[in-house]
Amino acid sequence: MWPAMSSDQTLLLEAARGHLYPNYRQPPFVLSRGRGVELWDLEGRRYLDLCAGIAVSTLGHGHPRLTQAIAEQAGKLIHVSNYFFNEPNLRLVQALCRLSGFDRVFFCNSGTEAIEAMLKLARRHFFDRGERERYHVVAFHNSFHGRTLGSLAVTGQAKYRDGFGPLSGVRHVPFGDAGAVERAMTAQVAAILVEPIQGEGGVTPAPPGFLPALRQIADRHGALLLADEVQSGIGRTGRFLAFEHEGVHADATALAKGLGGGVPIGALLCREALAGALPPGSHGSTFGGNPLASAAALTVLEVLESEGLVERAVRLGRHLAGRLGALADEHARHVATARGMGLLQVVVLRDHVDARSVLEKLRESGVLLTLAGGQGVRFSPPLVVEQADLDEGVDRLDALLKGL
Ligand SMILES: *Cc1c(COP(=O)(O)O)cnc(C)c1O
Repeated sequence: MWPAMSSDQTLLLEAARGHLYPNYRQPPFVLSRGRGVELWDLEGRRYLDLCAGIAVSTLGHGHPRLTQAIAEQAGKLIHVSNYFFNEPNLRLVQALCRLSGFDRVFFCNSGTEAIEAMLKLARRHFFDRGERERYHVVAFHNSFHGRTLGSLAVTGQAKYRDGFGPLSGVRHVPFGDAGAVERAMTAQVAAILVEPIQGEGGVTPAPPGFLPALRQIADRHGALLLADEVQSGIGRTGRFLAFEHEGVHADATALAKGLGGGVPIGALLCREALAGALPPGSHGSTFGGNPLASAAALTVLEVLESEGLVERAVRLGRHLAGRLGALADEHARHVATARGMGLLQVVVLRDHVDARSVLEKLRESGVLLTLAGGQGVRFSPPLVVEQADLDEGVDRLDALLKGL
């Protein structure tokens, strides 16, 4: 193994402190390698990765099939631009359409790009039909859709939006309130945009019946129903798409995060009826659909199926929910609730608990988790996680809460 000098890490941390743009709050270590759900820093300290780089590392770290697919593709062809077809991308588009039930896919490189494409698709769709004033979007309080100006405009949280305005053309209403959506619908509303389970907002599943109600409202008003499954998609909640839990079909869906297993890729999926909305020249991406990212995503989808990872998310999700529910009951003084779906779950700490410090202590004990919605300790592990790994994480959290 690589016996890094402790000064390597120290020197690199100095570089970070001196030169990295300080828009994050990274802890003081440098991760250098991983295997499955384990990560190691430059000084050889081991961490249990139960966040998967924010629901991204679907297959964990160093998965042999993903590693091999990326290496082989890198040796064959990395980039040709969207002027030309490439083989992994066409294999990927087939797999994605088969698994999702959608007809058309536009590829990009991130979640926010997939959302931008979706918003442009909705606007252009109505523009082409002569409804030129129809560009408004109804979105939800506490939603998160990304950081570029279009996806920021639909994001319903002040902490992401403040200082970046004007962000216009969007009406935010309470998540779960179908009546409020109905009241927000005007002839100018092109689309309703929703996360089936709000991720960054606090891992809040849509209440039962809400997604079907949105489908009906959209249909009644001739608007589109757009799904943001950037965090919830790719099997994480126990279905390939979280919308499937309610048997609802959106008109378009944005994917990213877990799709590439760590290699940047985003995708906008839509029905055939929307295939004409973005004609050649109207939208694009230089890197979108490149062979390397496509080969990675194709492998993620293949392993998802061959290793039964979606069913695994159901089974282990049930176990995790049981354990977190018990933990919430036992520590009711510090924990408000536990909730989530499949392998996207959260323990919501009460307001008197310093959630950031809980996360930091967990990290010091070797468990990596992330926050969601301010007070939520979020579990979004690789889908290849074992029950014992989840138990290790919950046990650490349990011990920590006991000491509060
Ligand atoms: C992370 C996320 C995004 C943005 O994805 P990026 O790849 O960070 O641009 C959008 N929507 C949801 C629901 C997300 O969780």
